[in-house]
Formats: sequence, C-alpha cells, structure tokens
Amino acid sequence: MTKHTIVALAGLLVASQTVRLKPDPTYTQAFAQAPAPYDLIVRNGRIVDGTGSPWYRADVAIRGDAIVRIAPAIAEPAARVIDAGGQIVAPGFIDIHNHARENIFALPSADNYIRQGVTTLIEGPDGGSPVPLAPFLAKLDALQKSINVGTFIGQGSVREAVLGTVNRRPTPAELNRMRGIVEDGMKAGAFGLSTGLFYVPGAFTPIEEVIELAKVAGRHGGIHISHMRDEAFGVLDSVRETIRIGEEGGLPTQVTHHKIVGPRNYGKSVETLKLIDDARTRGVDATSDQYPYTASSNAFVASMMPAWAQEGGRQQMLGRLKNPATRKEIASETVRIIREERGGGDPKNVFLAHCDFDAAMAGKNLADVARLRGMEPTIENGAEAAMWIVEQGSCQGVYHAMSEPDLERVMRHPATMIASDGWVQIFGEGVPHPRSYGTFPRVLGVYVRERNTITLEEAIRKMTSFPAQRLRLPDRGVLRQGMKADLTIFDPARVRDMATFEKPHQYAEGFSSVIVNGQLVFDGKAMTAARPGRVLYGGSR
Ligand SMILES: [Zn+2]
Repeated sequence: MTKHTIVALAGLLVASQTVRLKPDPTYTQAFAQAPAPYDLIVRNGRIVDGTGSPWYRADVAIRGDAIVRIAPAIAEPAARVIDAGGQIVAPGFIDIHNHARENIFALPSADNYIRQGVTTLIEGPDGGSPVPLAPFLAKLDALQKSINVGTFIGQGSVREAVLGTVNRRPTPAELNRMRGIVEDGMKAGAFGLSTGLFYVPGAFTPIEEVIELAKVAGRHGGIHISHMRDEAFGVLDSVRETIRIGEEGGLPTQVTHHKIVGPRNYGKSVETLKLIDDARTRGVDATSDQYPYTASSNAFVASMMPAWAQEGGRQQMLGRLKNPATRKEIASETVRIIREERGGGDPKNVFLAHCDFDAAMAGKNLADVARLRGMEPTIENGAEAAMWIVEQGSCQGVYHAMSEPDLERVMRHPATMIASDGWVQIFGEGVPHPRSYGTFPRVLGVYVRERNTITLEEAIRKMTSFPAQRLRLPDRGVLRQGMKADLTIFDPARVRDMATFEKPHQYAEGFSSVIVNGQLVFDGKAMTAARPGRVLYGGSR
C-alpha cells in the first residue's frame, strides 16, 4: 500500500483515529503548483460532531461554503489554515428561539451571538412575526450579515392583522383569512407557526383556532413552537395544550423556553417532562427548549398586567388604569403576580431591562421604583409602581422566579434543546437579560464543566443537530462531509459566559474561531469584515 493510498483511505475514515500521517513531499509538491485544493483547513481539532457521539481527532477541509473532507490528517495546502491546537471543533450553534428582527438591521454582525458560537438565529417566536412575511425575508436577504437567519410566522401577529386585539372568536371568513396568511408565510419560507398564548392577542385565542392554523403550517412542512399560555400555576395544562396542538394539528410541537415560574410551582418539571415523555410514547413529536438561567425576561406590560386589562390596545388599557374600579381589580391581579408568579414573592425580584420613556430606569427593580415614588417597598406598593411604569410607556422586564433543580431537570431531558430567547444586542444599551450574551457558553461552562449536569457531547447535540433536525435543516448542525461549513472552535477548559444580570454587556470567553458558510467571521479577538450569513428557508418551499 503506497502512502498515496493511505492518504486517500484516511479521507474515507471519519471515525476516531489517532494515527498521524506524515505528508508525502512529492504529493504535496504536485499540489503546490496548482491552486490550493481547499479554501480553509482546520487542523488538530477535537471534533464534537453534533450527533452526541464522543469527540475524535481530525482535520476539517472546507471549499466554498461546504465541508469537503474530514480526515485524521489533511496534508494538502489551503488558502488559509487554522490550528485548533486540540480545542473543540463543533458545528455552529443554532438558536431556535431568537428575537433578532429589530436589531439585526442595526447590527448585522450580531456580535453577541457570533461571539458565543452561534451561526444561525431563528426569528418570529412567541406568536410574533412580521405579517406578511415575504417582504421581511426579502429585506433580510438583501442585508449583508455575519449570521444565518430564518423565521417562524407568529399566530398572534396573524390574528392581530385580521381581528386586532379584541377578545372574541373569528368568523369563518376571518379564520379563512388567517389560514391564508399562514399559508403565504409558509410559502415564503417560514419554519412553522409560533404561538404566544400568554400574550395579547394570543391569550384570546381558543385552542381550536390555533389547531386550524397549525394544520396549515404542518401541511407545508412546518412545526409548532409555543410560548405557553401559563408557565406558573397552569403549567401542566399549558403543556397539555401544546401537545394537543401537535397531536390534532398533525405536526411536531415544541414547548419553548420551558420553565416553571413561581416558588409554589417549583418541582412541577417532573410532571411536565412526564407529559412530554407520554406524548412521545404515543407518537406525538413533542420537544422543548430552554435557556440556562433562573430569571425570565419579556415585555413588562405582558408580565405584570392581566390579559383582560390589555384588550383593545394601549389607549383602552390606560383608560382602565384611570378608572378607580378597574384600577383596583388590576392592582389585585398584579399583587398576585408579584406574590406568587413572576415576582417570586418580592418586588425586588422584578427588574427593568430598559424603558423607552427613561433610560435611567434600566437596572432598577420594583422596590427601587416604589421608593423613588415615596412608598415603602411592599408587594402592594410594588404593584402600584408597576402600574405607574405601564402608564409612563413601554419597558422590557427581568423576573427572578425559577429554581435550579427544575432548570437542571429540564436540561437533562433528552428532548430538550438549548435556545437563548435573546436579542441581537447593541453593546452597552440598557440592562438586558444576560442570555443574549451567555446562553450557549453558560451551558458549556457551568452545566457541563462545573456541575456535570450533561456531557459536552450532549450539550453540543442540544445546540446543533437537534435544533437542525427539528427545523428540518438537512445540511447544517452536524460536522460531516457535504454539510455547510458553519463551525465553532472553543477551549472546553476556558469557555464561559461573562454576562451577568448586573453587567450583561460582556462577551463570552473561550471561543477562538467562528466560521459561517466557510468564512471566518470571528477570529478569537474581533469580528472580521466577512458577511457570509444567509436567509434560511423552511417548510416545503
Ligand atoms: Zn417567549
């Protein structure tokens, strides 16, 4: 057997190999005259391929936007060589729940995501998306960006386009119009239907209506992903509802950012995960995703005001807050939310991330705001402060009301993937939830390295091949010949999230290279000028 044959055979082997082949000088010279056969080679990596299989040593060769060879040692020259130096080489992470659409146009390099190894963002979560979707996707396609972006179509936005934010059932004609918008969205390239039944107007939607729209998304190859109606006292019924949408809608269904809210509900993840297991046993393709923090974040008004108070839009809500009788009713529900749900029993647990009416509100909690208003920081005064904030304008809030045991239990479950639920962040702006900067490295640093909650290979699977399989992305999420070259290289001993609730604007550490569609977008120190990101299209488009 000649060395040539050995080199050729080595190319066929992608299994664990420790044999080091010396380059044959004549073989190398023959190529030296010709243009380099590869655009990029990543050498000396420990490959975690995304499937959950144990790591192995290999080189990865890239031509254009694709992985063209993985072998124990690739000797041929390349236009560019990255020495991974024994670090982990993994598929780029795929974030299946992301709010990229506002800031991606302001910051198309999406630094906070690229710098935590994420190469694909999926937009349109929680029932909210542009409607119609096609012009948005065209605008996104024209944008020069560092990262790949795809989207769901949002049920709440579809309903709002047809019915506004009223609490009533649609007429048959209105339901048909909603079906048509979902169908157009799927044809434009959505990955499925997202719902946000917690939010207005999703909260006014009967499940039968959701199922009718889910059927349309399913027919076009999409999935259903839900921010559930209730993640606190009603969490079990909400998981049942999410499963039923998949079962009767005839499509895969996902509980997004699965969490258990409120101290009295802690521990219920035992039952929610059993509901998911039981559904899977009887053939319903139900899954979940999660971010690794015990605080949540969303629009302040949605979390602190009851849905009925928001019906009909902001002006009507402000009218209800002015009327002493309805204000009292709202206050008593907000007190309950602070005592038992997102407030975790104390107004100190509810923070403002940023407010459009006053930048100085960022980072303050409801107890601080009550004091600023000259009140003792009781739960009742926290509710008064919350109503005052809602009257001033719009804020994003952060709520500390989840438990570590639930978080780790959900993470260990094989049907849970990792997703950030974050935003493309303008560095230094506001005090956002740290998940936008730290979700993926926090899993790798805290939950893999420090706590051994899951293995490194399992964590990577939850960030790569699992979301790719869920989205039916055939050519991403696994490091294998022929796949698109989205790669993340990091040091497993150093990888960590730096963003905290107090100081969230801090990039992750431990990532040395991030490659999107074959091009280096982050070199370990800085973003490069490359903008190889693409729009990814889902469904049967
Ligand atoms: Zn959500």
